Amino acid sequence: MNQEIEKVKVLIIGSGPAGYTAGIYAARAGMKPVLYTGAQPGGQLTITTDVENYPGYPDGIMGPEMMEDFRKQAERFGTDVRYGMVTKVDFSSRPHVITVDDQKIMHADTVIISTGASAKWLGLESENRLNGKGVSACAVCDGFFFRGQEVAIVGAGDTACEEASYLANICSKVYMIVRRDEMRASQIMQNRVKNNPKIEILWNSETEEILGEEEVNGVKILNNKTGEIREISISGFFVAIGHQPNTEIFREFIDMDSAGYIKTIPGTTKTNVEGVFACGDAQDNVYRQAVTAAGTGCMAALDAERFLAAHEIH
Ligand code: NDP
Repeated sequence: MNQEIEKVKVLIIGSGPAGYTAGIYAARAGMKPVLYTGAQPGGQLTITTDVENYPGYPDGIMGPEMMEDFRKQAERFGTDVRYGMVTKVDFSSRPHVITVDDQKIMHADTVIISTGASAKWLGLESENRLNGKGVSACAVCDGFFFRGQEVAIVGAGDTACEEASYLANICSKVYMIVRRDEMRASQIMQNRVKNNPKIEILWNSETEEILGEEEVNGVKILNNKTGEIREISISGFFVAIGHQPNTEIFREFIDMDSAGYIKTIPGTTKTNVEGVFACGDAQDNVYRQAVTAAGTGCMAALDAERFLAAHEIH
């Protein structure tokens, strides 16, 4: 079967603040960008509630609503937003070859990577099996299901502290499972959980297993100092141990750091491959904010535009 290959000037991969902002700029520059949303249209902000630090919203805005606004703004200028997952790329020659949903082949003069980052998991069999049945990586999305109940959260960074405090407002008790005898979180966030009577911190503690068949009903915890194992009854288990960039499919072609964050030439969004640009959390493990992602999305579109002009692709 001969498959028709679609050609585009700018292909944007990912639909968070970085991708949509790249879409807004690329569309307004007449580059007719095509944007593939990926598995989670709108990205990480669709699993948060209030966003209070994005300039221009003095009263804050809900994450999903903000991403709807981003999408509409990108579409208003002609960004072709499509639901689909880029499953493979070949950046070995130009135009770049992109496979969507394991089927459709695209040729793109420039590619903007804005695939963001995803939550990390512990890697336990029980965690995987009970995912969505009491195991969650997003307290603000799922905390509500456990109102008035006892829950646990793993992690000791700012995210874990923030989410533990959030859960304490809804749940009757929150166990915070911390693997060392100190936390990585900033002092102010630590103080917030330490001073919250509904949060009990379990130091030097590792999750052995999440208990339950059809739904979570407990967790088995190992104290790595004493070797003691104890079981706690809970109905919700939250994982807040950081994120990893969604960059695996680019690994063969694109330079990355050891954690998988794409390396860009400082002050630009250029990668090691000509015509491929990276923006947002896929290349930023330092700032990781919606506003910085949007900023680099704008940069990527401008870099792509200049690249096309320099190569006289109209
Ligand atoms: P971090 O990488 O900062 O923290 C991850 C935490 O998870 C660490 O405490 C780590 O433990 C723990 N951890 C990692 N793997 C495991 C494991 N397998 N088992 C148990 N525990 C594990 O991630 P965050 O998401 O918390 O934060 C990321 C960035 O975002 C940070 O820069 C943070 O400051 C920022 N942020 C800021 C916020 C704010 O200011 N309001 C809110 C949320 C995030 P260990 O310490 O032992 O390595």
